[in-house]
Amino acid sequence: MKITPDLDAEKLGQEMYDLIVQLYPICRSITGEGIRQTLRALQDIIPLEIHEVPSGTQVFDWTVPQEWNIRDAYIQNASGKRVVDFRQSNLHVVNYSVPVKARMTLEELRPHLYTLPDHPDWVPYRTTYYHEDWGFCLSHNTLTGLEEGEYEVCIDATLAPGSLSYGEFYLPGEIQDEFLISCHACHPSLCNDNLSGITLAAMLAKTLQGVERRYSYRFLFIPGTIGSITWLSLNKEQARRIQHGLVVTCVGDPGNSTYKQSRDGNAEIDRAVAHVLKHSSQAYEIREFIPYGYDERQYCSPGFNLAVGSLMRTPNNQYPQYHTSADNLELVRPEYLADSFEKYLKVIELIEGNRSYINLNPYCEPQLGKRGLYQPIGGYGDNKSFQLAMLWVLNQSDGKHSLLDIAERAGMAFDMIYAAAARLEETQLLKEQGS
Ligand code: ZN
Repeated sequence: MKITPDLDAEKLGQEMYDLIVQLYPICRSITGEGIRQTLRALQDIIPLEIHEVPSGTQVFDWTVPQEWNIRDAYIQNASGKRVVDFRQSNLHVVNYSVPVKARMTLEELRPHLYTLPDHPDWVPYRTTYYHEDWGFCLSHNTLTGLEEGEYEVCIDATLAPGSLSYGEFYLPGEIQDEFLISCHACHPSLCNDNLSGITLAAMLAKTLQGVERRYSYRFLFIPGTIGSITWLSLNKEQARRIQHGLVVTCVGDPGNSTYKQSRDGNAEIDRAVAHVLKHSSQAYEIREFIPYGYDERQYCSPGFNLAVGSLMRTPNNQYPQYHTSADNLELVRPEYLADSFEKYLKVIELIEGNRSYINLNPYCEPQLGKRGLYQPIGGYGDNKSFQLAMLWVLNQSDGKHSLLDIAERAGMAFDMIYAAAARLEETQLLKEQGS
């Protein structure tokens, strides 16, 4: 099946990039107005439902934290100049810093300053979600330029009871079994790690809205870790319907596609992504599950053990710009966003189209010629391959093999096997198992 046969990749990539540009300046965090504002912006694209979970709510072994909001933050020198300014970049303040208003010497200030000496122009991204503290992030060059003396330090923030916000969009399909697309939406001005995933998930949701679906789709835009723990805690039974899932992040950089397998490693989603990447005619990498990374850690915890992997380009921590100010609008490009989007669509097309058939003429091969099946069919390479695909489907359709099994065994692209099955079904040589 083809979900969007006339996809304009260039236009789509630009649309995704423009959304990243729009969301980039917002100071997101795991709670507060920044993530809310982001979710509200997504409501212009899809009818996202925004949920609020009160601070203090117990979610498995965790507690929903107090809500953090920030208005301003700076370090000002003796002549009244802001040498570090939140208004220039929200990365300058350690995310979740408690409020501060003080005068202190550079020496007193130093333990609260974070830099990257190896990349002296970049500003690091730091958080202090679960430990009350405060700090500033700045370029190493700025730090070395600071004179000894007294500074005015201000973090105009609040940490108070409120709620954790997350966005959810559910698209019902023919069956209740679900395909989960999850992304974290809690990082401030960082493009690849976070905004690329939010954008891809939103565009995917918009696209799937307009097509026939076998599976039901659930899109989650959540704060990392605490968001998936909260959702799973509030939806423990519902979560069992998730048959396939992908965590979307780091999908806009120039690196090769990288797939991190689900905990099981051989689930249908793992095989589907591997198949799509293998037939993409691009270099790629497949990595085994490890309990480090993004929200797949929670979906793949042993109590749930959901078939959720993560399809990225360069994974977290593996590119120098990761969690720094250099993960910016230059690192992500429209063409890589579009390429990632197309791969996600192909995986969904495969999962949607993967089913088992029964050969209705199982005693020796049926005569294809008299049914017009030797006639050329457009779009599937040479006719010989298409005929071979039909022979594979006929041979393997004993109810025990899915189309993906057949594609893997034949070493052929799923699209070709799927088209061959569709052609055979038209001529009543095949019927779907259970139909
Ligand atoms: Zn991150």
